[in-house]
Amino acid sequence: MDQHIEAQGDDRQLNVEPYWLPFTANRHFKADPSPRILVSAKGAYYRTAEGHELFDSLSGLWCCPIGHGHPRIVEALTRQAQTLDYCTAFQMSNPVTLRLAERIADMAPEGLDHVFFANSGSESVDTALKIALGYHRLRGEAGRFRMIGREKGYHGVGFGGMSVGGMVANRKMFATAMIPGVDHLRHTHDYAEMAFSKGQPEWGGHLADDLERLVALHDAATIAAVIVEPVQGSAGVIVPPVGYLQRLREICTKHGILLIFDEVITGFGRMGAPFAAQRFDVIPDMITFAKGITNGIVPMGGVIVRKDIYETFMQGPAAAVELFHGYTYSGHPLAAAVAHATLDVMEEEDLFGRVRELEGVLEGAVHDLRSETGLRDIRNIGLTAAIDLEPRPEPGARARAIFERGLREGILLRFTGDTIAMGPPFISTPDEIRRMVEMLRGLIRAER
Ligand code: PMP
Repeated sequence: MDQHIEAQGDDRQLNVEPYWLPFTANRHFKADPSPRILVSAKGAYYRTAEGHELFDSLSGLWCCPIGHGHPRIVEALTRQAQTLDYCTAFQMSNPVTLRLAERIADMAPEGLDHVFFANSGSESVDTALKIALGYHRLRGEAGRFRMIGREKGYHGVGFGGMSVGGMVANRKMFATAMIPGVDHLRHTHDYAEMAFSKGQPEWGGHLADDLERLVALHDAATIAAVIVEPVQGSAGVIVPPVGYLQRLREICTKHGILLIFDEVITGFGRMGAPFAAQRFDVIPDMITFAKGITNGIVPMGGVIVRKDIYETFMQGPAAAVELFHGYTYSGHPLAAAVAHATLDVMEEEDLFGRVRELEGVLEGAVHDLRSETGLRDIRNIGLTAAIDLEPRPEPGARARAIFERGLREGILLRFTGDTIAMGPPFISTPDEIRRMVEMLRGLIRAER
């Protein structure tokens, strides 16, 4: 295992109080006599304040595919900080960001060839929704204002992303603040028909016809865009049934509705291809990305846009700003430099090819858990997998116990509700993948 660089000071004497942690039960976290603190990371492992090594089974938060402390990233970051540490993206640009836009466009599916930069998945989603609205307006179809999301979808926490998102808990507190005109497709997960499927479920392609129901209900002339994650990540690796995404594409094309793939998790190799669009052979009109593009080291996100959508904006009056939208940190040179380093490593080490190899290892290992007691479903695709536990003794309790025991036994797991999700770094070895799943087996047995 690689050497960790020791963190400074005594990390067990920290004041946790002033910090309001996101998506966390703060009172529970702060009441813990030894709160969960990570102090260093190297490769596929974190180290805690108590000195325990933890296997990083979710690549940070799905965002660190080439592992932690990568020397190429450290070098790129340092060099860029010494060269050009900031450059506004308003009215000017810089070499590293320009080259990154070109590079991302080259990796994207045919026809998607312009890149707008943001700083997170949430910002990328809101940007894509705005581009959809602007596009229709410029084409004289301002009546197309509706957005269609999907149940269980996660598109970040901006008002747009929250509204098209389908995570009930994330919506409840803000129910009065949703953007207008949003509806949701039904989700595609069905325990009766597809539990324990390997890869894409054979059953369920027809569920895409739910979009025709919404088109009939709202009238196509009012619908701007459909946004889906090709594989629903945060909901727990819900894999699209065979034919489902193709059908969504057909229906959107038929009715002049833009199709947006939110590839914040699936983009940049997690599916063994640059984007899930290529893996599933369905080309959307826009792709949102974030996370893996910079290996999670510096925030960056963005939207890749189809040529004629971009051209529609460019056909306005010559001197005008075409899109009144952007961020102080759009296309940040430090993030762009780190993105290049990340993509260099992915290319040089053929990490997308490696994901395709590891997919088989992960699939074999996780489905081998099927005989364990109290499991409701196991799913996998690319270098992602999830298991659903029976919601006993009470919803979420067993998954939390497994997560907490995992921290004591050397693995950082991700759980939401009764689902445990995995998305290990692409640099993991086959043995590490098998060991990760065997650790999980031990935890499942220990926490019955
Ligand atoms: N979209 C998807 C598909 C995501 O998985 C996430 C984050 N998990 C987001 C958007 C939001 O990204 P961020 O947290 O960077 O705003």
